[in-house]
Amino acid sequence: MLHDALLYDELENNAVQCNLCAHRCYIKEGHRGICQVRENREGKLFTLVYGNLISKNVDPIEKKPLYHFYPGSRAFSIATPGCNFRCPWCQNWQISQMPREMQMPEGQRVMPEEIVEQALETGSQSIAYTYSEPTIFFEYSYDIAKLAKEEGLKNIYVTNGFMTREMIEMIQPYLDAANVDIKAFRDEPYRRLMGGRLQPVLESCKLMKSLGIWLEVTTLIVPGVNDDPEELKELAAFIVDELGPETPWHLSRFFPQYKMNDRGPTDENVLLETKEMGALMGLDYIYIGNIFGRYSTKCKKCGHELISRRGYATRIIGLDAEGKCEKCGTKLDGVGMTYHEA
Ligand code: SF4
Repeated sequence: MLHDALLYDELENNAVQCNLCAHRCYIKEGHRGICQVRENREGKLFTLVYGNLISKNVDPIEKKPLYHFYPGSRAFSIATPGCNFRCPWCQNWQISQMPREMQMPEGQRVMPEEIVEQALETGSQSIAYTYSEPTIFFEYSYDIAKLAKEEGLKNIYVTNGFMTREMIEMIQPYLDAANVDIKAFRDEPYRRLMGGRLQPVLESCKLMKSLGIWLEVTTLIVPGVNDDPEELKELAAFIVDELGPETPWHLSRFFPQYKMNDRGPTDENVLLETKEMGALMGLDYIYIGNIFGRYSTKCKKCGHELISRRGYATRIIGLDAEGKCEKCGTKLDGVGMTYHEA
């Protein structure tokens, strides 16, 4: 289904420039942008994925992962096909890369009103735009987010952060939280492996933070790509200095898949060492993901256990009704930091 695109400029000779993501594609008449889901027809830009729902689930919010945003709640999670990156380790490549590699998969036609209705019916407290890249289904997510907000639901982007300032400023009144993947701290792997650039991602993180969007960062540690301790140290320093030490950092374990099958999973020791390093750099909350286990949140001041997680089972065990440590009274960073029945 064709739907008018937002955020583009009309240029000479019926060309357009898309200003949705940091690629800022120049698109000639009859052509599509890098993401393959935005098409120039007679000098107007259209999105091909509005209402093309390819995936929906009710997930624990911890699965996004967001550990400091309404813990224990449900997030109604949706995606359309496509992405503006092409990461060779993508775990959702069947939906993210299909428009590039084959044809546009046809999902269910679901309009924004129905998404919001379903989110409410399932007892979700938020809608998460996730699995593929929400940037490239911006118009759909924007319309849903506006309706969701009217119904008291929160909105969450799980994103690669490769957006423009214009896009972030437009979604900001409706966007409550984001988990941004910082996939490396060098430009080279961004360009060579993912088809992006590092700097716009860092700028997006800083802008979201300054606009009051709750931010958590995820880094999938891929052997031989971004596991150099010095690089990870620089990334930790960026989070501390530019985003704030209260920003949770999720270190995720890589497993071979899609086009990256030439190496084994991330050594667990690398994840543990990176966690230690991040704490020494001053980060208050660091979590290891993609390994089943217990991941508690501890008070940054006194170390008291505040939230216990086993898999996705979440229990608040050390917080008072105001979200403060019951032992020393320090407020736990985050939003909605009391228990939210799923
Ligand atoms: S969303 Fe990004 S990749 Fe897609 S057309 Fe627009 S600028 Fe290009």
